[in-house]
Amino acid sequence: MVSVFLVSMALLCLARGGDEEAYDYIIVGGGTAGSVLANRLSESGKHSVLLLNVAGAPPAAYQGPVLLSDEYIVQKNRTTDSGLAVKILQPGYRAVEAFSVKETGSSPARFLGGSSLVGLSLYLRDHPEALDAWGKGWGWKEMRKQFHKVERLGRTCYGGSKSCGDYGTAGLFDIAKEPAYTHPLTMDFLAAAKEAGIPETRELNTMHDAATAVPPTSQHTDGTKSHAFDAFLRPAMGRSNLNVRHGARADRLIMDGHVCKGVAYRYLSTEEDRVVFAKKEVVLSSGYVYSPRLLFCLDWAQRRI
Ligand SMILES: Cc1cc2nc3c(=O)[nH]c(=O)nc-3n(C[C@H](O)[C@H](O)[C@H](O)COP(=O)(O)OP(=O)(O)OC[C@H]3O[C@@H](n4cnc5c(N)ncnc54)[C@H](O)[C@@H]3O)c2cc1C
Repeated sequence: MVSVFLVSMALLCLARGGDEEAYDYIIVGGGTAGSVLANRLSESGKHSVLLLNVAGAPPAAYQGPVLLSDEYIVQKNRTTDSGLAVKILQPGYRAVEAFSVKETGSSPARFLGGSSLVGLSLYLRDHPEALDAWGKGWGWKEMRKQFHKVERLGRTCYGGSKSCGDYGTAGLFDIAKEPAYTHPLTMDFLAAAKEAGIPETRELNTMHDAATAVPPTSQHTDGTKSHAFDAFLRPAMGRSNLNVRHGARADRLIMDGHVCKGVAYRYLSTEEDRVVFAKKEVVLSSGYVYSPRLLFCLDWAQRRI
C-alpha cells in the first residue's frame, strides 16, 4: 500500500512538466493560524497562495455571543446529542442554534476559522517573563509588537477607566478588556478569592504574580465573537493571488530529499486525488492533531523505503 503510494508520488514528481499546478505558498489548514497566514502571505500581492481546508465557511451561528465556561456550569444547557451541540443563553441574546457536526463530519472546528469558532474566547497572552524564556527573537520585547499589530481593543476598560493597558487598537482582531456579559458566579468567585488572600487584577495579560480577574475576551463591542475567519480570512478572500480550496483534505506531503515540494490532497465530494506543488514553501497549520499526523505519516513512509 505504502510502496504503491510512494511509486505513484515518484511518478508524479517525474512527470512534473510546465503544466502542473503550482503556487508560491501552500497552506495546509485554514483554521486560526491558517487564516492569519493566508491573509499575511497574500497581503503584498507578490506571492500566489493556495489554502487547503477540510470544510468551507462557517455558518452565521458562529458569530453568536461569546460562550464562557459559566454557561456550561450554571445553565446546564450543554448536550452531546448531536456531537458538539451547545445552546448559549446569555441574557440579552437569542439562544444560538446548536453547533452541528453534520456538515464537517466531525468537529465544527473544521470549518474555515478552525478552533477559533468553538473556543471560549478567552484572550490571554502569556506573561512577559514566560515569553522571555522562549528564546532569542521570541521574548516580550519582540512579541509585544506582534500582539499589538493583531489587536483592536474596542471598549473602555473595566470600571469605565479610559486607560486600557498594553493593547493595540488598530489591528484586525477585535478584543475586549472584559466580557460584555459576566455571570454573577464569576463575581462571587473573585470575591471569594480575595477573601482567601488572592489579589484581583485588572491586567491579567501583564500581571506577573498569581491573581484572579475577569478575563479579556476576543469579542466585538456588541458582545459577539471575534474569530479568525471573519478577522483574517474573509477580508483576504477577494485577492486574486489567494485561492481558498475547501472540501480538500491534505493526505500526504511530497518530499524531495528533506525539502517538502508539494501536497497530495483529496476532494472529499468527488473522492478525486490531486497533487499541487509549492515554488517556495508548504506551511502546515492543520492543528495539533493533523499537522503531527502528516509529519508522522511522512516519517513512517520514509523509514519504509
Ligand atoms: C473547545 C475549545 C475551547 C478553546 N478555548 C480557547 C480560549 O478561550 N482561548 C484561547 O486562546 N484558545 C482556546 N482554545 C484553543 C485555540 O482555539 C486553539 O489553540 C487554536 O485555535 C489552534 O489553532 P490552529 O490553527 O493550530 O488549529 P485549528 O484552528 O484547529 O485549525 C486547524 C484547521 O486545519 C484543518 N485541517 C485539519 N486537517 C486537515 C487536512 N488534512 N487537510 C486540510 N485541512 C485540515 C481543519 O479543518 C481546521 O480548519 C480552545 C480550543 C477548543 C477546542
